[in-house]
Amino acid sequence: MTLSEFDLIDRFFHRCGAARDDVVLGVGDDAALLRVPAGTELALTLDTLVEGVHFLPGSDPRSLGHKVLAVSLSDLAAMGAEPAWATLALTLPESDATWLEAFSGGFCRLAREFGVQLVGGDTTRGPLALSVEAKGLVPIGRALRRAGAQAGDLIVVSGVLGDAGLALRALRDGLEVDDLDYLRGRLERPQPRLALGRSLRGLVSAAIDISDGLVADLGHILDSSGVGAIVELGRLPCSKPLSAYLARSGDWSLPLSAGDDYELCFTLPSSRLAVLEQLAEDLPCRITCIGEITREPGLHIRSADGSDYRSLSSGYDHFAA
Ligand code: ADP
Ligand code: MG
Repeated sequence: MTLSEFDLIDRFFHRCGAARDDVVLGVGDDAALLRVPAGTELALTLDTLVEGVHFLPGSDPRSLGHKVLAVSLSDLAAMGAEPAWATLALTLPESDATWLEAFSGGFCRLAREFGVQLVGGDTTRGPLALSVEAKGLVPIGRALRRAGAQAGDLIVVSGVLGDAGLALRALRDGLEVDDLDYLRGRLERPQPRLALGRSLRGLVSAAIDISDGLVADLGHILDSSGVGAIVELGRLPCSKPLSAYLARSGDWSLPLSAGDDYELCFTLPSSRLAVLEQLAEDLPCRITCIGEITREPGLHIRSADGSDYRSLSSGYDHFAA
């Protein structure tokens, strides 16, 4: 069934996510009106997913609805912000009610889970592309940033790395893997590390979310902070299916450089490690120390035998030659 632009907005996006009392005016007028509490800063982030670039043609619409919001919420997590509102720009080849019901179902479920209300957006016809702007709140001066890492700080990551990249190789290239269901979940339904991000306020010296691969994203912390790092290959946290793949192939490019993991990477003085480990006990994801910040610029990746490992590629760059 096809729907008009306004019917589809009304049916699938009018009441989507949490019902927040700081929304003065949501979907339905020329702009939303939102109340930003005194003492807080507004954190804004926009991400776009394009069919054939960020996801495989024919991807499950419910997972797409989840993922397009999750990637923006991951940016708020990396800033230590509390998510509040979102806007959604949809470019659709057709107004297919079945597809839209599944897409909005995945989107609205994740929005409700994290207390986010969809407050507006835009709907146009064209090749399938999805954009979300997530808006969050953070107490004044308390946001986490990429700049601030100091020589001697520890480098820590949440969760495990490389699963999404392995899932993509399996789904796109037919690579045989263990536990494809788990891996597919990691690629299609990333969990934004919002509780972790908030608890890192006042504790860490720098933070980023890993969307383009560890080497690229840690590289942003290093550039912004004017420092370097040593990362130890043997300490990278990997799932069972990824460890099995590493044992077979010796190919470390996935945990180092594959994108789409949406874990957090952050740095902190070693004197604060005990506090971090304490608070991590109450969180749903593990945290792992993978290396140390150095005064000399550059990222050195060290193999288990202590030799320098040359990374094969950095992260994904849309405009790289
Ligand atoms: P305008 O033409 O004034 O920009 P639109 O006709 O595009 O307004 O949108 C009408 C209302 O529906 C607006 O409140 C807009 O924010 C909302 N809206 C449009 N598309 C979406 C969407 N995909 N998700 C949520 N809200 C949407
Ligand atoms: Mg208008």
